[in-house]
Amino acid sequence: MSTSTPEAGPTAEHFDAVVIGAGFSGMYALHRLRQQGRRVVCVEAGDGVGGTWYWNRYPGARVDIESMQYSYSFDEELQQEWSWSEHFSPQPDLEAYANHVADRFDLREDIRFETRVNELTFDDTVDKWTVGTASGDRFVATYVIAATGSLDVSNVPDWPGLDRFRGQAYHTSRWPKEGAELAGKRVGLIGTGSTGIQITPEIAAVAEHLTAFQRTPNFSLPARNRRLDPDYEREWKADYPERRKQILGTHGAVLMSNAAEQRSIFDYTAEEREEVMERAWNARNGLEFIRTFTDTSSDPKANEILAEFVRNKIRSIVHDPETAELLCPKTYPIGGKRICIDSGYYETFNRDNVTLVDIRTHPIEEVTESGIRTTEAEHDLDVIIFATGFDAMTGSMLRMDPTGVDGARLADHWADGPRTVFGLMTAGFPNLFMVHGPGSPSVLAQMITTGEWQVDWILRTIDHLDENGISRFGVTPAQESEWAGEVDTAASRTMHARTDSWYTGANIPGKPRALLMYVGGFQRYSDLCTRAAEEGYTGFEMKQRALTLGPNHQTPQ
Ligand code: NAP
Repeated sequence: MSTSTPEAGPTAEHFDAVVIGAGFSGMYALHRLRQQGRRVVCVEAGDGVGGTWYWNRYPGARVDIESMQYSYSFDEELQQEWSWSEHFSPQPDLEAYANHVADRFDLREDIRFETRVNELTFDDTVDKWTVGTASGDRFVATYVIAATGSLDVSNVPDWPGLDRFRGQAYHTSRWPKEGAELAGKRVGLIGTGSTGIQITPEIAAVAEHLTAFQRTPNFSLPARNRRLDPDYEREWKADYPERRKQILGTHGAVLMSNAAEQRSIFDYTAEEREEVMERAWNARNGLEFIRTFTDTSSDPKANEILAEFVRNKIRSIVHDPETAELLCPKTYPIGGKRICIDSGYYETFNRDNVTLVDIRTHPIEEVTESGIRTTEAEHDLDVIIFATGFDAMTGSMLRMDPTGVDGARLADHWADGPRTVFGLMTAGFPNLFMVHGPGSPSVLAQMITTGEWQVDWILRTIDHLDENGISRFGVTPAQESEWAGEVDTAASRTMHARTDSWYTGANIPGKPRALLMYVGGFQRYSDLCTRAAEEGYTGFEMKQRALTLGPNHQTPQ
């Protein structure tokens, strides 16, 4: 439909809602809005669906939540018919699943691919958003649902000489679809976070030589990935609706096995706790290792015991003692940064074609035509791979440079760090909802399920607004302060807030420091959001829609 409004220009298309992003949350939002019979368009920068799992197609990319849980719950037939091949799904399987969902629910017809939003402006006079895109489209809509992803804007170090390099350079989050030629090449890898840890064994297996440049080592646990056990799959499918319900009642929106001891590490003698940790290390539960005891994420002494156990594992795997010691994290608590799970990461450093370079002691000075120069040496390379992470949690919103009521810029409103209510809305930007926004559990909870939950909350809210004739709905600075208090109180009980990482914005020079996600647990989070809705959105800002008078209306004399 093409209509003309003076603000949006003559070719603007009008919708009830624009969804930004066709990742898992955006696809679900599109599906639900269509189910409700609303006019909706979804705008996606990539040429396919899947979001994170569309962009991050580097070799070794794999999710760290088990496949039976890391999937949609909204449609029983879908969850019964789909079969995962591996316990922890690799990127190609997740992308295939996203495509399957898009086809099954005919989502593509309402997705504009290769369309990047570069303008997001609220029009106070009509209480509508104008969404402009780099391709020149203009959409006008009452609501915007920004499902723009927590990890979307790539972080690329600002080193001199980057444009001089004569070889190939890639960022893992923009990996070419056709793949990168690494066989027989001298490859340099920057970054040893989850991504670097996943790609390292893959590069080493094909490259002539891999030079891994490490600034800070990470704690990584064996993924013990495997083919999905058909009995396990049957067990889940027989009980899916009940298990999905239980998932929503947990801290991280993930059902754990019963391996965790639920006791303090100090309840055991030194010998006993070694045994418990050994059992947990060998259990096939990935990230659950970190929850073996009740106090390792809050008590530094308890944490140090667990950390040293993992360091000793690294020392036992890596043959060269100097390399092993370099790979041992010693400057922050275990679990303070996002813990990684890997498939043969530490073992890779036993290969003859792999070198670990310590760029904490000898930083990178520049990229040259032929490689990388640190303060200590020159490294000749054919390929440089940046696994240097993201401007996380806020980057994808700020990149669109939204302007809200009275032309206020989000960049200004968030200048000292993001301010939100539930990570769903921010003051001065009415009718704009974020999925997995800063201040929500987001990356600390299983994101497909919690994304569905947030979208359901948003749609329930939109229903309420329609039923009550409300044209403008937003949050206030006072609500933001209250939510910031809740977020800070929860953060103060954990190691995350005290550790420099992308969780706190510390990975991006100049970014304000604050824990960017809500660590109070998904269960408490969802209770608080639900209560706000049940109490009729008390404290939220609401403006009644102006009455449109019909032709037969008579003004009272
Ligand atoms: P990341 O955790 O932020 O790691 C980035 C790495 O690059 C760090 O080692 C960092 O070193 C290094 N780096 C950044 N800038 C640098 C610079 N200027 N000079 C030298 N080194 C630099 O990013 P990521 O590995 O992409 O992971 C981000 C998140 O994505 C993960 O935490 C996880 O949530 C998600 N992810 C999940 C999976 C999975 O499910 N299995 C896989 C991949 C990613 P410093 O630590 O010293 O800053």
